Amino acid sequence: MKIVDHIKNANGKTLFSFELLPPVKGQGIQSIYNAIDPLMEFKPPFIDVTYHREDYIYKQLDNGLLEKVSYRKRPGTVAICAAIMNKYKVDAVPHLICGGFTKEETENALIDLQFLGIDNVLVLRGDARHADPSFIPTPGGHAYASELLLQVKNHNQGIYLHENVTAETESDFCIGIAAYPEKHFEAPNLSSDFKYLKQKVDAGADFIVTQMFFDNQKYFDFVNKCRENGITIPIIPGLKPISTLNQLVNLPKIFHIDLPEDLVESVQACKNNTQVKQVGTEFMIQQCKELIKFGAPVLHFYTMGKPEQTKQIAEAVF
Ligand code: FAD
Repeated sequence: MKIVDHIKNANGKTLFSFELLPPVKGQGIQSIYNAIDPLMEFKPPFIDVTYHREDYIYKQLDNGLLEKVSYRKRPGTVAICAAIMNKYKVDAVPHLICGGFTKEETENALIDLQFLGIDNVLVLRGDARHADPSFIPTPGGHAYASELLLQVKNHNQGIYLHENVTAETESDFCIGIAAYPEKHFEAPNLSSDFKYLKQKVDAGADFIVTQMFFDNQKYFDFVNKCRENGITIPIIPGLKPISTLNQLVNLPKIFHIDLPEDLVESVQACKNNTQVKQVGTEFMIQQCKELIKFGAPVLHFYTMGKPEQTKQIAEAVF
């Protein structure tokens, strides 16, 4: 079922969902089930699975020359989605990225998803490879999520890349996009970022999932700005509780977000990560309660495959 229909059917009640990463290559599917099982009691109507582009390293050969070696650390997104739908009978939402795909490969990926009965996709540009200084589009692929979104929309209408192919069965993907209440790190300013967000919405996005944030006011302001500018689609807050002291540095560094002063002070006063987890959980419970009061359609947790803290939070708020 489409995410927008899950939200409609909830009649204003806030739903629970979460995101998983495919396991590091070599780990089995059981690690995915272990990450899902404890959270099923909160009845997630959908579960997201991230997509990770291939990366590369330079390996020194015996003769001293460098060889470029490509690898994928976390393959398996689509297969994990199929396994989730099969085992749990909930919708799985694969993330679909520009990086690493030509348009032809994207088309084939969409056909795979269509054949698997996947109704929703989260369309993204994708992260830069670690070895690259910034995002480099794949030749013959897309540079921005808005372009990928248009390809998915065209696919929905039976428009394929080659003129001699007429689609027999139309797909009808419900399309999500990302947004950043505190600004995407590459955007020169908030209004430029907002302009491109609006472009994605005007091109036909069905729902938005936000980057994590710890100050609800930033989400409220963002939602209000969207509504004032005619963006009416659901805006799903993405949430991640703090669990380690290192995250005071890492989360702002990796995700380009601010941490509120009271949270930072409480975490700094902790003697160990067990205490940090308690502080992070309590903080997130309050955040969730406010978000539910505000009318957030879904609380979407970035679990990173670790369900325990999310479970504690969900127990307190659902
Ligand atoms: P875009 O919407 O393409 O925007 C990227 C930047 O370009 C922004 O600064 C925007 O303002 C600007 N921009 C957009 N259009 C134009 C234009 N036409 N001209 C000039 N500038 C423009 N990454 C992964 O690799 N895999 C994942 O599974 C994944 N899941 C994610 C899930 C969520 C909910 C979020 C919030 C992020 C996720 N990411 C993932 C990270 C994401 O891919 C990065 O943040 C990426 O840098 C931007 O993706 P986007 O889709 O927002 O890009």
